[in-house]
Amino acid sequence: MIQAQKGTKDILPDESIRWQFMEDTAKKVFTLANFKEIRTPIFEATELFARGVGDSTDIVNKEMYTFEKSERSLTLRPENTAGVVRAYIEHGFSRLPQPVKLWYKGPMFRYERPQAGRQRQFHQVGVEMFGSSEPSADAEVINLAVKYLNELGLNDLYVEINSLGCPECRKKYRDSIKEVLKPYLSELCEDCNFRYEKNPLRILDCKVDSCKKIFEKDDIQKVILGDFICPDCKEHFEKVKEYLNSLNIKFSVNKLLVRGLDYYNRTVFEIKSNNLGSQNAVCGGGRYDSLVETLGGQPTPAIGWAMGMERLNSLISDIQDSRLDVFVVSENTSEAFKVAEELRSKGFSAEFDYPNRKFKKQLDKAAKSAKYALIIMDDELKSNTVTIKNLDTSEQVNVSRDDYLCKIGNF
Ligand code: ATP
Ligand code: MG
Repeated sequence: MIQAQKGTKDILPDESIRWQFMEDTAKKVFTLANFKEIRTPIFEATELFARGVGDSTDIVNKEMYTFEKSERSLTLRPENTAGVVRAYIEHGFSRLPQPVKLWYKGPMFRYERPQAGRQRQFHQVGVEMFGSSEPSADAEVINLAVKYLNELGLNDLYVEINSLGCPECRKKYRDSIKEVLKPYLSELCEDCNFRYEKNPLRILDCKVDSCKKIFEKDDIQKVILGDFICPDCKEHFEKVKEYLNSLNIKFSVNKLLVRGLDYYNRTVFEIKSNNLGSQNAVCGGGRYDSLVETLGGQPTPAIGWAMGMERLNSLISDIQDSRLDVFVVSENTSEAFKVAEELRSKGFSAEFDYPNRKFKKQLDKAAKSAKYALIIMDDELKSNTVTIKNLDTSEQVNVSRDDYLCKIGNF
């Protein structure tokens, strides 16, 4: 038997209601803040990710699904920022009034070791804001992430932020980190040794326990906690924190937060949950002021984030009553069909018994699948009435056929 591939999952009908809830809520929250949806292709030129995500990242080095077609190297998108930036440049969005505010949702692909909270095809929802370098833009996108999570009913989360500074600050920081880590190189993991050459800041992102222990040493802590960002970057960061405070968003500054991708500068942030075990990040993002230019566009400041929807899904509780509104119980199929159609046209979900079984069987089915049974048997047909039965309380009323539609919602 052919089965779903390792690291992929079917989203079955029982669960799709939760996915629709995540998607509907995203649309609602982002639209209110004037973000518009963008849908970009699922595969792109491999080069886009090599340049856009960075060839020293795990994503580009180890995790891409790459294939050849007509001598072109193509890759299933491992994330969507690079694709959105490509579209921004390709469609001349820099000519639109700025900022341009976009959101997306959809599947992403990374060849990782599957485990709880980590799949090979997973889904992200995310936002990107182009054209504003203001700290209020940073606060707005972080605010939007928090708003979205709250609307999903998730409050037990914490926001961590950090500032990586501008390229000059980063260079200063990078040099100090390299210097202080040099004596520890043989104790650091193989990946960290590779990062030491390619992108030393990302060493701080290492999840290996023995590496994390080394970062706790006094001389290293001194560099990490040291003040390496320039006055302009500092002022920017202070302003972001002020706005977050005025929005009552609780956050902490985590100086180890550097994010996995190469393109970030200034503000970076993650939102984590205490209820997720080791894959505890639900949201990651930051400012990426050089990416549009790197990919061939005009210099354009930008900031955004992405959330893992599988991780959100495992956090949201059973919020909704997924039952049908009305099951029409009748031994007259055409009548049942007609009434189901009337109900649907008024916005009630409705069904009836296709094989037209006996009354008792139909009522059993109704009790299993719906909130109300609408009973239309011989008596009702004769008196031009219907009986509405509340299947939670078992109460029932007999009402005129003409005005049952206004009764059903209130019973
Ligand atoms: P992690 O540290 O968990 O690997 P990341 O830094 O690789 O995360 P990003 O690229 O920032 O993650 O993606 C944003 C979010 O997407 C993550 O916070 C996480 O919720 C989710 N995510 C990333 N990779 C996966 C995966 N393989 N399966 C499920 N969700 C994922
Ligand atoms: Mg990762």
